[in-house]
Amino acid sequence: MARYTGPVCRLCRREKMKLFLKGPKCDSMKCPIERRPYPPGMHGRGRIRESEYMFQLREKQKARRIYGVLEKQFRNMYKEANRQDGITGENLLRMLEQRLDNVAFRAGWGSSRNQSRQFVRHGHVNVNGRRVTIPSYQVRKGDVVEIREKSRSMIVLRHNLDTLDRVKPPWLEVSGEGFTATVRDLPLREHIDVPVRESLIVELYSK
Ligand code: SF4
Repeated sequence: MARYTGPVCRLCRREKMKLFLKGPKCDSMKCPIERRPYPPGMHGRGRIRESEYMFQLREKQKARRIYGVLEKQFRNMYKEANRQDGITGENLLRMLEQRLDNVAFRAGWGSSRNQSRQFVRHGHVNVNGRRVTIPSYQVRKGDVVEIREKSRSMIVLRHNLDTLDRVKPPWLEVSGEGFTATVRDLPLREHIDVPVRESLIVELYSK
């Protein structure tokens, strides 16, 4: 599946907030948002006419960028979320959280979702004992996600486990020296700490 390969800090600046796309750099003074907290480009500091559509669009773009999903795939996820029972916006966020690359990120294996995605793509992650290399794979309740035995000595992974100390969400139980993550339950909205107002995304797509 295709992914965005352009400059990522630009994406945060466009949303005028930190989206934490780059790992350690995001918490340092090197983060461009610290020095230039306005949209990139020649009109970045110009006056922007605010509209309902603009707010809806920005929320959608923010969600896409945080989880690294391209437009077409995101729209398909919305359609699926809309088909399911319950609140569409919450369904959508839950599906984004259930992505395998996000689980690898939440478990503290990757310093960013991008790096976690790379771990999955490169075959370092097993789901229920079988290698899965699809970052968008949707985990289900009871799934056991783990770093493959052979990959556990990777320096970057060890470094992340030693230094990140990421707070694990209650729906994910991390065990086995940090190499195993069990999906205890499906994520609830209150356990998804992304700064996104999902109702605006639903408004945008249901026009
Ligand atoms: Fe965003 Fe991180 Fe770049 Fe800062 S360093 S702009 S938080 S990706």
